Amino acid sequence: MTEESKQTTAIVTGGSRGIGRAIALEMARAGHFVVVTYRSGAEAAEKTLDLIRREGGNGEAVGFDVADSQQAKDAVAAILDRHDAVEVLVNNAGIAIDQLFIMMPERDWDAVVNTTLKGFYNVAKPVLKAMIPRKRGAVVSIASVAALVGNRGQANYSAAKAGLIGASRSVASEVARLGIRVNVVAPGLIETEMIQEAPIRDIKARIPMARIGKPEEVARVVRFLCSDDASYVTGQTLSVNGGMF
Ligand code: NDP
Repeated sequence: MTEESKQTTAIVTGGSRGIGRAIALEMARAGHFVVVTYRSGAEAAEKTLDLIRREGGNGEAVGFDVADSQQAKDAVAAILDRHDAVEVLVNNAGIAIDQLFIMMPERDWDAVVNTTLKGFYNVAKPVLKAMIPRKRGAVVSIASVAALVGNRGQANYSAAKAGLIGASRSVASEVARLGIRVNVVAPGLIETEMIQEAPIRDIKARIPMARIGKPEEVARVVRFLCSDDASYVTGQTLSVNGGMF
């Protein structure tokens, strides 16, 4: 195999289910070896790999908590040791713990902010360092419409996702000259386990397309942003939300 034809790697955090699983599948379809990460759902991650392999792709599952600095440091270092051509990172792992702000326990604030923002720091920093020598790479983070409009009961989630957009813009400007693009996708309401307790009827009334989105509809946009078709796109946030604004 020549250097040029060597398979590249895409890391998808939280790729075990939901939107992350759909993104992992798209990354495999784009030709990457896919590192599917998860926190505790090893079986779900294996299911994602199974789906990838059924389509002729390949990947591996790696379990670690993105919010835990030491765990993430060790796990990402091991991934980077095994794969020298990491071309794509999708920061998708995230949680929501909703509560009105004045009643929100500190642990719920910390858990949501740390998963999204500390997770970005813990994973994107070492991966970007590894991308720099190759002068090629794409990072996409999954924010939310909640970062752009204030949702009741989501102060922690909105703060974390808005922070992710700010951090991505800064980092995009730092690495743009090094051939690395950094973008954000902000989904609206997407059919996954995360929205099981969301007030779907109320939210649907705010969606011009009057329906909930599918994980694949987010994944295809992520695939575009990670591909050379988006070669002049960096520092942007692309909403995938059926027309909500
Ligand atoms: P799910 O709850 O279905 O999946 C979340 C994924 O993230 C799982 O793979 C989970 O792994 C992983 N994860 C969560 N916390 C951690 C952690 N600390 N460390 C490592 N992995 C972790 O979520 P969705 O697919 O719905 O959401 C994916 C992303 O999209 C999230 O960032 C979410 O905020 C965002 N989003 C979702 C929307 C929606 O309507 N669904 C709308 C807008 C944005 P495990 O199962 O092992 O815990």
